Amino acid sequence: MILAMSSGDVFEAVESNVRSYSRSFTGLFTRAKGDFLFTQDGTGYIDFLSGAGTLNYGHNPDSIKRAVVDYLEQDGLTHGLDLSTSAKGEFLDAFHRYVLAPRGLTYKVQFCSPSGTNAVEAALKLARLVTRRSNIVSFSGGFHGVSTGSLAATGAGFYKQGLHDSLPRTTHVPYPHSPLGGFDSLDLLRRMIGDASSGIEKPAAILLETVQGEGGVYIAPVEFLRGLRAFCDEHQILLIVDDIQAGCGRTGAFFSFERAGITPDLVTLSKSIGGYGLPMAVLLIKPEYDIWQPGQHNGTFRGNQLAFVAATAAIREFWSDGLDGPFIQAVRRKADLVAGHLGYHLSQPPAVTVRGLGLMWGVDLSGVSGPTASKVSQLCFDRGLVVETCGRNGEVLKVLPPLTISEENLLQGLDTIIGALRDVTGADDCVAGDPA
Ligand code: PLP
Repeated sequence: MILAMSSGDVFEAVESNVRSYSRSFTGLFTRAKGDFLFTQDGTGYIDFLSGAGTLNYGHNPDSIKRAVVDYLEQDGLTHGLDLSTSAKGEFLDAFHRYVLAPRGLTYKVQFCSPSGTNAVEAALKLARLVTRRSNIVSFSGGFHGVSTGSLAATGAGFYKQGLHDSLPRTTHVPYPHSPLGGFDSLDLLRRMIGDASSGIEKPAAILLETVQGEGGVYIAPVEFLRGLRAFCDEHQILLIVDDIQAGCGRTGAFFSFERAGITPDLVTLSKSIGGYGLPMAVLLIKPEYDIWQPGQHNGTFRGNQLAFVAATAAIREFWSDGLDGPFIQAVRRKADLVAGHLGYHLSQPPAVTVRGLGLMWGVDLSGVSGPTASKVSQLCFDRGLVVETCGRNGEVLKVLPPLTISEENLLQGLDTIIGALRDVTGADDCVAGDPA
């Protein structure tokens, strides 16, 4: 029997039931360039998903492709365990020179197995080794991956079904913003951890996303982040920022915590650090906490040389002009454009609320009855836009375009969302003005 790719038969017959994105965004994708994905029949889709935050520099950017192709043509190593290679050396030099040093950061760089969850695993293990404590505090609505340690820290019950007993100790605390409203998380932490009689085990670390991505695009306030840093210092608890989705420029600065002026003890990066959608994950470690024994957290694929080459090219192209270079300035201009456009057309509380930072935005439809967000997402796809849903019940549309997107494509994608929302709800109480 021959299984047809174009009709989806081969995926249905052979691929595991666990597949997910392919169910929402059907079609056989064959090519991608810049802001667009293309299916076999040549249909183009503006990409507001960006590989869930992996393609901050768009699809197949020419300059990075050139660097990767040149490296391949020179028969550079593709796999190198954790050998010292020229590709890795150049990445470390560029990352130190253009990302860490200008921000006064002295982190050591640990290469992990190449998906984000492994960097989170490394962070949690290291925090436990440093403090000799085992509990971890993380936040409701947070997403940190689905391997055992990171899954324990993830909030969503969906991923934990049937697994609770096998997960390491974690205490979840409400995030300062959530569908349940504002919350004084620091006050709760003071009562739980500052009080030795609270009954709660003092944690090794507090782990958080400064902007929750999968949880529905909720933004931690600057005062909270500063207060959390001070709280961790006071109680000798490590502060871990998971910047896997919100890092690499997504929120309008290279690191999402820059806006608060804090320095976490450990930082996880993955997704767009690889520059070209190539797998790579790192843990940044304050030097005094780099207590690993050689090889204690190892992995065969910690040396994805093509990712090093692409990452180096990306850093040199987009991040070598200081803290306020033209690339990040353009991201901030586009952020203002999104805020203005969505704010004008969609911000109609209680039906629709819009929130975001940089080029990470959520259109929250929890005030509209029914599964509106997934219907809007489907209609957008029918009209040439890939935009996913997030949040507790998939009630938030997540706008995550490439940071390099043209203003024209950005506005076209936003107007597709606005038009689809109007058509799905059939009412003008969600949408003001005519996007066209
Ligand atoms: N942490 C955050 C904040 C994420 O958004 C994700 C993935 O979406 C992960 C960790 C897990 O990364 P990966 O899927 O590469 O394991």
